[in-house]
Amino acid sequence: MTRRFVLLLLTALALVVPSQPAAAKTLPVVDMTALDAAAHVEGYRGNQPALGDDPSTILVQQALTKKGFTVEADGEYGRATTKAYTKFQRSLGYKTIDANGVPGPESLAVLGAGRFTVSHVVQVGSRSDTYYGKRVNTRTRQMLVAADAAVPWKLRLAQGSYCGLVKARCAAASAGTHDGGGVVDVSVKGMSTTRRWQTVQALRQVGFAAWLRTPSQCGGCWSAHIHAVAIGDTDVWQRNGKFTNRDQVADYFVGRNGLSGHKRDNTPTKYRVPFTTWEQYAGL
Ligand SMILES: [Zn+2]
Repeated sequence: MTRRFVLLLLTALALVVPSQPAAAKTLPVVDMTALDAAAHVEGYRGNQPALGDDPSTILVQQALTKKGFTVEADGEYGRATTKAYTKFQRSLGYKTIDANGVPGPESLAVLGAGRFTVSHVVQVGSRSDTYYGKRVNTRTRQMLVAADAAVPWKLRLAQGSYCGLVKARCAAASAGTHDGGGVVDVSVKGMSTTRRWQTVQALRQVGFAAWLRTPSQCGGCWSAHIHAVAIGDTDVWQRNGKFTNRDQVADYFVGRNGLSGHKRDNTPTKYRVPFTTWEQYAGL
C-alpha cells in the first residue's frame, strides 16, 4: 500500500466516522477491590507500607477534593483520606458503620458520577446472611463456601460477624474485632495440626486475613480456633477510635498476627499465600 493511498483511506474514514460527542468520552475506572484493600491496609496508624501508588485512590482523592472534602491526591488511602471519605459519607446521610471511611458501592457511585466508573465492585450483600448458623454477610458466606470447597473437611464456625451492629453477645476476648462485617472464628476442634494450618491456608487463598489462635496467646482466654477477617470488607467497625477488623488486615499485610502485641505471624511458610481479595480470587 502506498503512503498516498493510506492517506486517502484515512481521509475517507474520517469523513465516514462521525466525531464522538463530548459527553460520550471514556471515563477513567476505579478498581474498587484495590481501593478497599488499600483503605484497609493504608489507613492504619499512618505508617504502614502502601499497597502501591494506586491510581484508583488518586481518582477518589481528586473527586473528594472537587466535592469540597479536600485531601492530597497522593495515591495513599491513609488517615486523611479515610476522614475525608467519612465526611463525604455523612454528607449523604450515612451514619455509624455506613460512614466509616471505607468506600461502599453506593457512595462510590455518587462520587464517581461524571468523573469515573467503578470496576471489581465490592458487594457485601445482606448483613443477615448465615453460615453454619452464624451471622455473616453474603460476601463472607461466599468466601467460606469457597474455602470449604478447597479442603476435604467441613468448615464450622464458632463465632460470626456484626456483634456491634446487632448488639449480639460476642466473646470479650475478641476485643471488638467481630463487631463489624467479614469476621468469623472457624472451629478447629478435633482437627490435627496439619489440618488446622491447611484450613488457615484455604481461608487465606479466598481473601481472608486468617490466623490460628492458640490458648497460650492470651493466657488461656480462648480455646484454639482460626480468626479470619475478609480483606476489603466495607463494613469496618470502629470501637474507641480503633477500626477493629480493618487494622487486623493491615497487620496481616505486613506479616504480623493481628493481636495487640503485633507479633510476627507464626504461620509456617508453606501455608502462606500472596495477599489477595475475594474479588481477585473469584474473578469478579
Ligand atoms: Zn475471632
